[in-house]
Amino acid sequence: MTELLFLLLPVAAAYGYVMGKNSAKNQALELNRQITSQYSKGLKFLLDREEDQGLEHLIQLLEVSADSVEHYLTLATLFRKRGELDRAIKIHELLLNQPNLSASVMASCRLELAKDYVLAGLLDSAEEHLVILVKNHNVKALDPIINLYSQMREWRKGINMYESHRELFTKPQHFAAIANFYCEAAISDDTPKLMELACAFEHKIIRPYYELGKDAFVKNDHVKAIYYWRKLVVNCTNTAPLYIKELEQSYIELNLKNQFDDLIEELLPQGGVLIRIKHCQSLLEQGQLHQAIDFLTDSLKREPSIRGFSFLLQLLGNNNNKIQAVLSEIDKLVKSYIATKPEYQCQHCGFSSHTLYWLCPSCKHWETIGPSKGLDGY
Ligand SMILES: [Zn+2]
Repeated sequence: MTELLFLLLPVAAAYGYVMGKNSAKNQALELNRQITSQYSKGLKFLLDREEDQGLEHLIQLLEVSADSVEHYLTLATLFRKRGELDRAIKIHELLLNQPNLSASVMASCRLELAKDYVLAGLLDSAEEHLVILVKNHNVKALDPIINLYSQMREWRKGINMYESHRELFTKPQHFAAIANFYCEAAISDDTPKLMELACAFEHKIIRPYYELGKDAFVKNDHVKAIYYWRKLVVNCTNTAPLYIKELEQSYIELNLKNQFDDLIEELLPQGGVLIRIKHCQSLLEQGQLHQAIDFLTDSLKREPSIRGFSFLLQLLGNNNNKIQAVLSEIDKLVKSYIATKPEYQCQHCGFSSHTLYWLCPSCKHWETIGPSKGLDGY
């Protein structure tokens, strides 16, 4: 418990303050003695794990020096890091009851207390304090309250909070979270209109477009599927592997395959290997095998990709019947290698998976998981 010694720092500060203000030496010494005595008592109780009495003694000194609040916050953080949440909560609760603290210090204490409650699993208590902070326009409360509502699956509460306090929202990750709250509420209440509201965000949002496109595709509404997926693929081309085959199918159903080919060509500059493979497929359909081989070989030299290499093996096999069987065997090996690689990866924390999660199970961020990139990715 040597870390508790820093609590004696305010004693020195209080001593200096008193000495500067009051030349009556005896008075200063007497006050200093009282403070030191209170600190010693408080520390002794704490060291003996008699938290209530120890903290009470220490908190009493706040009236002597409001500056010492920082020290209590640091002490509470220490307790929290050590997993002693009951002690961290006690300190934060006592600080919050101090009448002489400024509004900003009170807000810091409330935020820290809410974090303690979350860690202790007391989610309702955490929510109570975070709601107060949001109502007081405290932007720092957004991350924890969004995480809390995600954890509690309280989508409607999150949406209501957003709709009442839109002015607090500026960060893309907060918009992504609320867009997903709309999607989750739409799915659980079977009200697709909620997803359309999420499309109104002026930020790059993925899921509502993806879900609305998928819903339309399943219902054979190919015009609508194209409407949503086209918007998504143009704005966030890296999401193409999630729906590009179905999008192509929708164009084919409407006899508009040429428009799909034009779209792929338009996406080539920012598209990944899958867009380049789609471009090669359209060249093949037009009987331009050599152009497809040249295009893919050239792009693989600039940006190597296992998936691109696999498709090149197929093209080379089509070009030469004598070696087609051998290349086909090699391609099988390459494909079995690809199958072992996770298809999705979180761009925030690196978590990888074979399943697409909209909320990263590791870092708890929304929409940070997408098709993996790099040599093994898309
Ligand atoms: Zn993550």
